[in-house]
Amino acid sequence: MTSLTQKIHFAPAFPIPDYLVGEVQSKLAYVDENIRAAQVSPNGDDIQLTFGNAIDEEEKKLIESKVQRVVTSLVKGAFKPKVQILEDYLDRPLPYREDPMAELLRRGELSEEASGVYALGPLLTRLINWFESRFVALADSFSAQPYRFPTLIPARYMERVGYFRAFPHSLSFATHLHSELDNIDQFAQHAACDEQGNLNVPMERFAQFKALLSPAVCYHLYFALADKPLPNGRVTATAVGNCFRYESSNLTSLERLWNFTMREVIFVGPKEFVLENREIARQRMQKVFAEIGLAYRVESANDPFFIGEFRKQVAFQSAFQLKYEIRARLPFKDSTLAVGSYNYHQDFFGRHLNITLPDGSPTHTGCVAFGLERIAFAFLAQFGFDTAKWPKVIKESI
Ligand code: AMP
Ligand code: ZN
Repeated sequence: MTSLTQKIHFAPAFPIPDYLVGEVQSKLAYVDENIRAAQVSPNGDDIQLTFGNAIDEEEKKLIESKVQRVVTSLVKGAFKPKVQILEDYLDRPLPYREDPMAELLRRGELSEEASGVYALGPLLTRLINWFESRFVALADSFSAQPYRFPTLIPARYMERVGYFRAFPHSLSFATHLHSELDNIDQFAQHAACDEQGNLNVPMERFAQFKALLSPAVCYHLYFALADKPLPNGRVTATAVGNCFRYESSNLTSLERLWNFTMREVIFVGPKEFVLENREIARQRMQKVFAEIGLAYRVESANDPFFIGEFRKQVAFQSAFQLKYEIRARLPFKDSTLAVGSYNYHQDFFGRHLNITLPDGSPTHTGCVAFGLERIAFAFLAQFGFDTAKWPKVIKESI
């Protein structure tokens, strides 16, 4: 089998400012199914798309118009958000500079089941368990109540909080065969996968979608509390769960997964209660990260909204300081990776889901979310595989 690739260059309709280069690049992955990689030059004046197939002039024109739609909606009229830095420990000394991916694969610590889907081995699992023990200790320090949530989430829940409009590109859907005997028999006899892993079954055999794979943990709590007064006027909860965000050709290593796990500590109650606890959580985690010498910073951020919603929502999030990310240093690529976030949703969920405070007003919500695979990956990227060079607290307990 020959593997054919074709690269195409475009000049963007508007020069892409440096603070949007990453955002435009990641959204270009959704322009066409056959895109293998999208790259925006660092100075923002060139876009390169790599295709897995040959592209003729006609197709190229169509693709260019879609590329320019992405560029225009993200760049035109955008202004540089003021980045607020709450903690900066990026320059902590680190013993390692390599990309841990090759070594993880070599050791059998990672096996790729599909793009963005990995089985993790004992070293990664033990590291994740260590970080989990710290996240659970954080939850305990707030007397957070433990919850367990399903992996599936009903489509009508997601509709109710406007998720389809905000993040359509990253949705993952779940279905099943129509419950009809001949249909199931036919499937049983003929279902097979092709070389790319695609199942040879037409969509008509499947039931309509009523469920999705959940993209976040805290949503489940808000739905459990919907359409009633909040018990005792406040709830603090914690849960860990599988989350799904389809990232198209951006799925390249353990940094960006389709299926990942998140631990969240969730605050529901009056505005001051949510904001104060979000701040206390940040200060408590600052001590944990200091103890292990993690190199990171905490800075204001925005969620990866799709192109139509992006500009408006990002301006809103930064104006109200709704999101801060814990960005760990990745020395091997001189960049940072979000390993967690401190979020405040104002009364968004309270209003949409009709969760009320004792005075009848909608509740406020916030969450602290940690990406478990990413924290383990960032740790290995900073400290490597020689446990003699690991922080004492981790070395001793795993
Ligand atoms: P967010 O709700 O987007 O702030 O996500 C919380 C955390 O989950 C992030 O800080 C990441 O550590 C992790 N996370 C989010 N998306 C992904 C992904 N596609 N792959 C791996 N981890 C992710
Ligand atoms: Zn959350």
